[in-house]
Amino acid sequence: MAWDFETDPAFQLELDWIDRFTREEIEPLDHLLGNHYDLKDPRFIRFVRPLQRQVRERGLWACHLGPELGGQGYGQVKLALMNEIIGRTRFGPIVFGAQAPDSGNAEILARYGTLAQRERYLQPLLDNEIVSCFCLTEPHGGADPVMIRTTATTDAVGWRLAGEKWFATNARYADFLIIMAVTDPDAPPHKRASMFLVPRDTPGIEIVRNVGYGQTEATHAYLRLTDVRVPADAMLGGRGDGFVVAQTRLGGGRIHHAMRTIAKAREAFDRMCERALSRTTKGERLADKQMVQEKIADSWVEFEQFRLLVLRTAWKIDKLQDYKQVRKDIAAVKFATPKLLHDIAGRALHLHGSLGLSDEMPFMHWVTESYFLALADGPTEVHKVTVAKQVLRDYRPSEDLFPAYHLPRVRAAALDRYGADLDELEPAS
Ligand SMILES: Cc1cc2nc3c(=O)[nH]c(=O)nc-3n(C[C@H](O)[C@H](O)[C@H](O)COP(=O)(O)OP(=O)(O)OC[C@H]3O[C@@H](n4cnc5c(N)ncnc54)[C@H](O)[C@@H]3O)c2cc1C
Repeated sequence: MAWDFETDPAFQLELDWIDRFTREEIEPLDHLLGNHYDLKDPRFIRFVRPLQRQVRERGLWACHLGPELGGQGYGQVKLALMNEIIGRTRFGPIVFGAQAPDSGNAEILARYGTLAQRERYLQPLLDNEIVSCFCLTEPHGGADPVMIRTTATTDAVGWRLAGEKWFATNARYADFLIIMAVTDPDAPPHKRASMFLVPRDTPGIEIVRNVGYGQTEATHAYLRLTDVRVPADAMLGGRGDGFVVAQTRLGGGRIHHAMRTIAKAREAFDRMCERALSRTTKGERLADKQMVQEKIADSWVEFEQFRLLVLRTAWKIDKLQDYKQVRKDIAAVKFATPKLLHDIAGRALHLHGSLGLSDEMPFMHWVTESYFLALADGPTEVHKVTVAKQVLRDYRPSEDLFPAYHLPRVRAAALDRYGADLDELEPAS
């Protein structure tokens, strides 16, 4: 009997340490420091670097990576249990060396980078000496990457990139960019693009402006690339493999966002429950009103369902070691993630009344973040389509006018099977 929902006691001790460390050491920084990717900020150096050292000493650094890359090789289930603690904080992921988009970028560098590329970019990225930026989306559309227009043309010296990128997160702090560009316009759509590693200070890269949303800092760049020249060995992966490389990166990235979202949804849920017990109106607590109880019950069930889906998907990734085979599950998690945060944070906001809506509470920020989760790494609709297509692969159309499960046909088959014996017996009443 292999179904098991228990945490290994030795790892539970680590989780207890992570929980305490996150609450006491990391969470306060969320309220005091600026952007968590600004590695040059003296306050980052003073307060965050020592915490990172403690995480390394504890052997919990970069747990999303295998031991060959300096991680623990814990696998996705243990990572999920960690992320559902550290994910409630802004600084948690970077203190534990597992922040997006660097974690996904490191994954593709490890898998597709040449020795020289790995030496130049991967090790400093893993050590958080630098941060990175992934540039796929363009101003005229992002949901359909086949539409990208940025080009890379080859000459005697190397490649020349030209085009525009949109919502390139952290470009302003990044040391290098991973840019997807069309190298083979006449190839089949998914073989047209390739990936390039481009130092951020390469001439021709211009941040037209940094874009923000909600309460967050403007850190998503509108980039213009004008005759950006890189050497021939700047290509990451093979020519025409841009889509394959991008897909590798996104599989892990999506499930990690989901793991961190569990943490935020749980925070919102806990606060909703505390408020329901603390606030009274018309002579009774909010918690005594059935419509409030419904909100709490719905939230609890949605939360538990989601968490199980994330953990089962993590378990499948560990077992199969192949994102392609878990594509349906990851897509399902991807589109369930924003809905969970939106609905639970939204109810928590509402139960706190005007205070909940105000910027003295985190709920509005979480609701806004749910919209971010519904767009980044592809919009909800696209992932629903993936799930539906994958689900339908396991079904076949009926060849008859009436389906095989049409009740008259089912009854006739049942009679064929048991009819003769049935005729011999009278019903008891
Ligand atoms: C916070 C944040 C960070 C991001 N960071 C990065 C980054 O670092 N690098 C990067 O390259 N990109 C990044 N993105 C961009 C993100 O990948 C795109 O926003 C996303 O792919 C959607 O593209 P779009 O914004 O151009 O919307 P569009 O492609 O214009 O789509 C708009 C809407 O159209 C609908 N739609 C689209 N396709 C379909 C469909 N097939 N069926 C039905 N409806 C559909 C959906 O409602 C969708 O939301 C980030 C986005 C956000 C919000």
